[in-house]
Amino acid sequence: MDLNPTAEDRAFRTEVRRWLETNAATGDAKTLDERKAWHRKLYEAGYVGMLWPKEYGGWGRTPMQQAIVQDEMARLGAPPPINGLGIGFIGPTIIVHGTDWQKQRYLKKMLTAEEIWCQLYSEPNAGSDLASLKTRAEDQGDHFLVNGQKIWTSSGPIADWGILLARTDGKAAKHKGISCVLLHMRQPGVEVRPLRQITGSSLFSEVFMTNARAEKRDLIGNLNQGWEIAMTTLAHERGTGFAFKEQVLQRIAVEDLVRLARERGRAADPVVRQEIARRWIEVELMRLMNCRTLTRLERGEEPGPESSLVKLFWASLTQRLHQLALELEGPYATLVAGSRRAVEDGRWQQAFLWSRVGAIAGGTSEVQANIIAQRILGLPR
Ligand SMILES: Cc1cc2nc3c(=O)[nH]c(=O)nc-3n(C[C@H](O)[C@H](O)[C@H](O)COP(=O)(O)OP(=O)(O)OC[C@H]3O[C@@H](n4cnc5c(N)ncnc54)[C@H](O)[C@@H]3O)c2cc1C
Repeated sequence: MDLNPTAEDRAFRTEVRRWLETNAATGDAKTLDERKAWHRKLYEAGYVGMLWPKEYGGWGRTPMQQAIVQDEMARLGAPPPINGLGIGFIGPTIIVHGTDWQKQRYLKKMLTAEEIWCQLYSEPNAGSDLASLKTRAEDQGDHFLVNGQKIWTSSGPIADWGILLARTDGKAAKHKGISCVLLHMRQPGVEVRPLRQITGSSLFSEVFMTNARAEKRDLIGNLNQGWEIAMTTLAHERGTGFAFKEQVLQRIAVEDLVRLARERGRAADPVVRQEIARRWIEVELMRLMNCRTLTRLERGEEPGPESSLVKLFWASLTQRLHQLALELEGPYATLVAGSRRAVEDGRWQQAFLWSRVGAIAGGTSEVQANIIAQRILGLPR
């Protein structure tokens, strides 16, 4: 497929750049209300839910146009929409597997950030091996009674709703006894405890469910079809949005590395030059993998194995890139923010620690291996 920008793409990019330069709340959207307001503004401009069908409040735009918006937002450092999980992969899962009632009830409020969403999949003993999850959802006629614990729940404290995987058949093989249901987070049986990370922030939480209630009408797909639905969620999680933005952010980081090497007097060192060149090539590889995803999306297909590969690749690239930054910083790397030479207020140190956190989410896992094995190699699960 020819991915060179058409005249229309170029005009669209100019329009997006102008809009962002006029409206972007760079660094200003801090409180929950401000972040929701920024999200709504992006939505009303047509830059959120770009690929969603118009009948559910989406904009019916092309994957190329969506990639352009992500590219321009990353370039300008504009804050992302607050309901990223909902827009990126929970909404698309409901669009594929949900009932008409679910689509009408949930999608528009997700797009406008009126309701914030989280993903209740991982558990303390079910991370990479997600199918080992133990949270139970017992059939109570018109609802399920949910008991168990989730972990690594991004946006947990601000979420109104969660997409939950729970065991509904304890006797079936582990992949076959799981169901997917939507859970209201604002109920007495749901307790969210934020987890503090090494970076100092609390991006994710533990979630404890004690006799929590999930309505039967909120079951996604059929009973015990949860694994299949989880695969749809994860393909979207890795495939769209995230990788296009990261490609630009990693490119900017490589350019900053060059500047850092010059500032530290290391730019003439052949080993440093070689390492920076390698990172540059790796970002270029990431861009080319994203082109494969874009080709697939432009053809109207679902995200495929390259979306898992690109996340895996990104996870190790970002570690190598920030490791190199700290090596270039030398003794200054350990200085804390606020001291004279704590370069850019600890920006590289923060990014280095974050690359370790993010890498867990992008690391090799049974789920990823499954997707790759099934879709590239054609192996059974
Ligand atoms: C920033 C971030 C946000 C997240 N947000 C969410 C969220 O919103 N909702 C959610 O449900 N989850 C979320 N997760 C969880 C994430 O998607 C992974 O499922 C989880 O981090 C992996 O599980 P674990 O941490 O228990 O690691 P484990 O699965 O215990 O893995 C630990 C280590 O062992 C390795 N390993 C595992 N299995 C094998 C094997 N068979 N062979 C060889 N090596 C193996 C792994 O590569 C890893 O290095 C998030 C994680 C992060 C880091």
